[in-house]
Amino acid sequence: MKKNLSINSLTREELSEYIFDLGEKKYRAKQLWKWLYVNGVKSFDEMSDIGVKLRNKLNSDYLFNRLSIDKHQVSKDGTQKWLFELKDKRKVETVFIPEKDRGTLCISSQVGCTLSCSFCHTGTMPLVRNLSTDEIIGQILSAKDSLLDWDNKNRKITNLVFMGMGEPLYNYTEVTRAIKILLDNEGLCYSRRKITLSTSGVVPMIQKLKYELDVSLAISLHAVTDKVRNELVPINKKWPIKELLSVLEVYPGVNNSRRITFEYVMLEGVNDSISDAKKLVKLLKPLHAKVNLIPFNPWPGSIYKCSSDKTIKDFADEVCYNGGITATVRYARGQDILAACGQLKSNSVRLNKEKVLNINAA
Ligand code: SAH
Ligand code: SF4
Repeated sequence: MKKNLSINSLTREELSEYIFDLGEKKYRAKQLWKWLYVNGVKSFDEMSDIGVKLRNKLNSDYLFNRLSIDKHQVSKDGTQKWLFELKDKRKVETVFIPEKDRGTLCISSQVGCTLSCSFCHTGTMPLVRNLSTDEIIGQILSAKDSLLDWDNKNRKITNLVFMGMGEPLYNYTEVTRAIKILLDNEGLCYSRRKITLSTSGVVPMIQKLKYELDVSLAISLHAVTDKVRNELVPINKKWPIKELLSVLEVYPGVNNSRRITFEYVMLEGVNDSISDAKKLVKLLKPLHAKVNLIPFNPWPGSIYKCSSDKTIKDFADEVCYNGGITATVRYARGQDILAACGQLKSNSVRLNKEKVLNINAA
């Protein structure tokens, strides 16, 4: 009946409803949820305290699938990248960044991205589609399998960031369903603080996100004037800086100590002057903000250059010491496997494109 739907596309309420409709006891849903998200089993048949009859029914109603790994690379700095092949053969990338005190999994929300920010590789992918809830959850489950990360007392993936391929707020429904699964305290149990959603600034959806889920927020600001931001982040033409910042003034709420992260890619001669840094401070002062400076990560064919180390340091000092806003530099990880911010774009798509070009030339 629902056989082409994966069990991982259900929220806990939906799973409970399904179990209830089957006339099963309520606690069965709880048991099932625990097998899926605490024990991390890979088939219904491993669920030893679920009777054969129910397991058979589950097997006939739902798929139990992990994403298929097309490629798995490990960088010399320990960063890992998976290229997953989806059912329609499209591919997405997921990155794990281990640090001393935490491990961050960078998740994709779309295949490609429609927004075409001029410095981002993902935005150049010709094929774009939204990922479904189970494809988003599947990235976390497959990474946990691969990292042997099912010991919940000693987690390797401690933080989740929607900073992979795609604009998560352009896939609001599926992304928020996936976040509900991640937050569930009887399952994967990630706290709101440990989940960060990064957006290029889809203003109406930011408001909605706050009221519905209240996860941590990162904003890809990257420029302090509309003129420059229109060039770098074209969605700015729709929702300019002033509108974006005004919706953020109400985001964290007075009782909330969490700060909003502002991402700022350092592009030589474009947005990296001291006067830009001063303007940035002025813009962010009314907000509960911190700044993440991202040295530009080049990709084949990109038109920008990364600011020099000295420029980045001077910019950070201006924001931090003179401006009083915390600024950290996010050094690239996994560059040898093209796993850094903005470098994600599956090779398969490049090959396909070349193939199309060749066919056209023939
Ligand atoms: N679409 C969302 C989330 C994915 S991009 C967004 O734009 O926020 C994650 C972060 O990487 C964003 O801040 C993005 O602007 C940044 N980024 C993209 N390309 C980059 C590049 N080449 N170098 C450094 N950062 C980049
Ligand atoms: Fe899309 Fe984000 Fe890349 Fe812009 S920076 S093209 S919004 S993934």
